[in-house]
Amino acid sequence: AKGRGRATFAFFEPAVATTAYDKLMLEGELGHAIIHDEFALLFQPQVRACDGHPVGVEALIRWQHPQRGLLAPNEFIALAEQHRLIVPIGAWVLREAARQARLWHDAGWPLTVAVNLSTLQFQAPDFVASIQSLLAETGLPAGWLELELTERMLMDDVPQVCARLQQLRALGVKLSVDDFGTGYSSLSHLKELPIDTMKIDRSFVQELPHQRESAAIASAIVQLARGLGLSVVAEGVETEAQRAFLVGQGCDHLQGMIISAPLTVPQMQRWLHAQPAL
Ligand code: C2E
Ligand code: CA
Ligand code: CA
Ligand code: CA
Repeated sequence: AKGRGRATFAFFEPAVATTAYDKLMLEGELGHAIIHDEFALLFQPQVRACDGHPVGVEALIRWQHPQRGLLAPNEFIALAEQHRLIVPIGAWVLREAARQARLWHDAGWPLTVAVNLSTLQFQAPDFVASIQSLLAETGLPAGWLELELTERMLMDDVPQVCARLQQLRALGVKLSVDDFGTGYSSLSHLKELPIDTMKIDRSFVQELPHQRESAAIASAIVQLARGLGLSVVAEGVETEAQRAFLVGQGCDHLQGMIISAPLTVPQMQRWLHAQPAL
């Protein structure tokens, strides 16, 4: 989170909003981006580690800005969070992701779709109800939707978070802990939470297999997930050596450039067709 905060600042100031006035402009534009249909989702494949079989995708938002070009989440998500615009934007992401997953299902590709949540979105009083109506509207089976939460979101107010996760779990939605290892999970709390998946953060994966500490952390996370009966996904897998290490540790799923970059829907279709039969 520290690294991302720094990156956001570095990106934002010189590249996007150079002045307070410019920042104000961007804010205003962000407010209109949904109705102007300027957001898009990319989908990054996740595969079974042992054999490369496609199992799901993670939805990643982009903003096609009419003047500034294609913006990555680092350039606008923090701003959207500051101004609560993340709530309608997040709702758009969920709807779009669920709708697309449903289309893939109908086309014979049973992929789970993972969606990143922001704190404000998750804490909104009607969040659980909105997920329920989303599932009803799109007809997506609940088990094919996975919500990604960060450790910080989970450890904030554990009893309240736990109650909310139970409600989501009751709907049949899958829950995963994003960027695991970078936050401050209390293990005793973690064991109480109805979580399905842990995602090993890219910062550890990047240094595999040679950096001793990262290797120790990655393998400890896999063991921990095992012990808790959770599945484990490694993100940001870029090299064959990283893949081999993670497979050797018993990591369940892989995501990263060695599998595929985040793809548009047509690119995803082509990628799926190039995979061995499901
Ligand atoms: P994240 O959830 O950790 O997502 C993974 C990020 O790693 C994505 O960056 C992805 O493009 C990038 N990535 C994937 N494979 C590799 C790899 O092999 N190497 C490297 N170096 N990077 C890889 P992206 O798309 O720029 O998203 C950045 C962050 O923005 C995400 O991090 C997530 O926290 C946030 N984000 C993305 N979409 C949404 C959204 O719809 N809502 C919210 N609230 N946050 C989002
Ligand atoms: Ca994520
Ligand atoms: Ca992540
Ligand atoms: Ca990450």
